[in-house]
Amino acid sequence: MTPRIDAILCRYCEIALKKGNRSMFERCLAENLRAILAEIPDLLVPRTRGRMWLKKKGGACFSSDEVELVVNRLPKAFGLASFSPGVNSEKKIETMVEAAAAISQAVFERELDAKKHPTFRIRARRSDKNFAMNSKEVEIALATALSERFDKEERLRVNLELADITVSCEIREESAFLFTETFQGPGGLPTGSNSHVLALLSGGIDSPVACSMLMKRGCRVDFITFHSYPYTTEKSVDKVRRIVEVLNEYQPRRPGKLFICNLAPLQKIIRDSCSERFRTILYRRYMFRIAEAVARRNRSGALLTGEAVGQVASQTIANLAVIDNAVPMLVLRPLTGLDKEEIIKTAKRLKTFEISIERAPDSCTVFAPKSPATTSTIQQLEKEEAKLFVDELFEELTNDAFFPSK
Ligand code: ATP
Ligand code: MG
Repeated sequence: MTPRIDAILCRYCEIALKKGNRSMFERCLAENLRAILAEIPDLLVPRTRGRMWLKKKGGACFSSDEVELVVNRLPKAFGLASFSPGVNSEKKIETMVEAAAAISQAVFERELDAKKHPTFRIRARRSDKNFAMNSKEVEIALATALSERFDKEERLRVNLELADITVSCEIREESAFLFTETFQGPGGLPTGSNSHVLALLSGGIDSPVACSMLMKRGCRVDFITFHSYPYTTEKSVDKVRRIVEVLNEYQPRRPGKLFICNLAPLQKIIRDSCSERFRTILYRRYMFRIAEAVARRNRSGALLTGEAVGQVASQTIANLAVIDNAVPMLVLRPLTGLDKEEIIKTAKRLKTFEISIERAPDSCTVFAPKSPATTSTIQQLEKEEAKLFVDELFEELTNDAFFPSK
């Protein structure tokens, strides 16, 4: 029998609550939860004294499919520390015993089937100090009742530190709440509680990870990608679209927009006019400039990239400084100090990794120089750029990205 779940207790990260912005963060998280669970009808997200709940209108119970949906989706709700599906009970010890038995029966049966001597514990918390029994007394009453009911052969052992079965009971003003499971949330701050930013998103492994890191810090992320059609294929943009779909599952309330820019016309001029060894750095300075122009129109507060120091020739400190110099806007590079292995681990968890490793040519590698400069100076690049007359083309590319024709 699936237990009757009539509420899900949502705990959020205290970090959001230190300053005077508590209710803004809470509202934002509540709205995100509503959006991430939009398929559940009659969902309510009430808040009581530092706790957030998921409930159904009229005190109805969640179906088992709905509970499963909650368990699958809430790990994508940034700002959530953990959550526990459970059951409310009237504050009378006999009713609480019945509720505890209903919610824990399947867990006791499973553990008693699997082990000779499963361990268990009851954890009670009493925030309503008017309740007649203290927490210790509630723990003893529930432990006695549950072991009598489920453990006829006396195989259960109590372990207060680390138990196979934990039944928790919170005695609150309005009711008692009982649960057996606590699932981890992703932590961080609710997406949308900070400014929104524009990510330079390639089809690679790194930039989607950078996006998730900023979403986790409360920023909604829009995206811009550069391709070089016909020198790159449709596949490059298709990959990026699919990565955006996955990333937008983390920001369902306002999914990020994707701006698409064909850099090829500019790359051809760079190829024909400038020194070969600076080509990639020139591409990247123009990518940043176009991204910044789109970001300003889009009112994004910063650019975001997946650059990490030392990964490729364009990511030496000297070259990063020269690329950074192309735009005055703040550029966030959350991966700068991370190893590729750490980045891959996050990409796998995000489910972007499988898409990123599909082979497709990247815009940066079109007409790639045989030996790219691993170091450069702003003066060298300015000298190269003085050979280019691309103001009109720049406007055109920016407009096409911002107002796509189809
Ligand atoms: P990634 O795995 O994210 O592609 P990378 O290790 O391949 O990164 P680069 O190709 O040098 O490194 O790109 C560094 C960053 O520049 C990327 O993380 C991304 O933010 C941006 N970038 C690179 N190519 C593109 C592109 N075609 N469109 C948009 N942004 C790009
Ligand atoms: Mg790349």
